Amino acid sequence: MKPFGYLRVDSVDEAVRAAAGQPGAQFLGGGTNLVDLMKLGVETPRVLIDVSRLPLDRIEELPDGGLRIGATVRNADLAASRPVRERYPVLSQALSAGASGQLRNTATTGGNLLQRTRCPYFQDTSKPCNKREPGTGCPARDGAHRDLAVLGHSAHCVATQPSDMAVALAALDATVRLHGPEGERTVPATDFHRLPGDSPERDTVIRLGELITAVELPPRRPGAHSRYRKARDRASFAFALASVGAVLAVRDGVVEHAALAFGGLAHRPWRARAAEEVLRGAPATERTFARAADAELAAAEPLRDNGFKVPLARALAVGVLADLAARD
Ligand SMILES: Cc1cc2nc3c(=O)[nH]c(=O)nc-3n(C[C@H](O)[C@H](O)[C@H](O)COP(=O)(O)OP(=O)(O)OC[C@H]3O[C@@H](n4cnc5c(N)ncnc54)[C@H](O)[C@@H]3O)c2cc1C
Ligand code: SF4
Repeated sequence: MKPFGYLRVDSVDEAVRAAAGQPGAQFLGGGTNLVDLMKLGVETPRVLIDVSRLPLDRIEELPDGGLRIGATVRNADLAASRPVRERYPVLSQALSAGASGQLRNTATTGGNLLQRTRCPYFQDTSKPCNKREPGTGCPARDGAHRDLAVLGHSAHCVATQPSDMAVALAALDATVRLHGPEGERTVPATDFHRLPGDSPERDTVIRLGELITAVELPPRRPGAHSRYRKARDRASFAFALASVGAVLAVRDGVVEHAALAFGGLAHRPWRARAAEEVLRGAPATERTFARAADAELAAAEPLRDNGFKVPLARALAVGVLADLAARD
């Protein structure tokens, strides 16, 4: 590991000022991803600005009935929080499906959103990788890509975004609050992660020196239920091969509202707009759910070894929607 500096800050302003004044600075949340990548030589910050103890560890009610989740709220606390379990079960379930109990006790909301891909070439500095070193190539395209993308990939990168939580946030139409050298701004969770295009080194739209301060959830829709389901190689401690976060409201047997997002399929949580179009106003039947999944997954372009993800994602989506519809 290369030597690095360490700075603990007490306020958001101090964190942002410190990052602006230090080339090579990186924020440190729980460190469960960043420190691993430093040990592997993938990340080489000159200084770590420890934001894990900032006073951003509260889950607050918003006047409109939504929730504000501070960036340093730990994944385990968020999953266990009563308003989240009662009003946003998809989020609680997604968090609980990720990592392990120990990791969830340490990992923060901000760090979870910015965790890097688990593509094996990205984590191996002896291999070329456009995401790690732009212009060196993408060995995953013809190499080990069983776990990688089937939607929205490019010639430059076929990596997947690994966060379960981010998939639930996309389905919930959450908003990410950022504070940077140019002030504050908000970004919809659906636009926070990017597709790789020709610049896969950028995972998200976050700008240099910006700190995530919170994630905000809109009020729960009356009559809507939500759920997260994940398929993986083993029951714990494993990333999604495919996952689905869904919010569904059915009235008199007809879909009134549907929001669906896939995980494990793309470089960002994949909000399934084509599927939602099919669902809205249609009878809440398995036939509709299958048509909706097919409409979305028609855009899939599987690689040599990951075609299995398409029927897997379809089965997850149909199953989750059918379970949610059965609750009405
Ligand atoms: C064995 C293992 C299994 C795992 N399995 C899963 C899984 O199944 N599903 C899943 O979703 N995750 C999984 N994870 C990943 C885990 O969820 C992440 O490591 C964790 O959420 C990262 O949070 P952190 O606070 O530790 O981030 P850190 O490691 O501290 O930081 C991650 C990144 O975020 C940046 N950062 C941190 N906080 C902020 C902030 N407030 N503003 C701006 N930038 C910030 C850092 O600079 C860094 O770039 C697994 C991890 C391990 C080690
Ligand atoms: S898929 Fe992306 S992260 Fe993986 S080797 Fe290719 S460029 Fe690197």
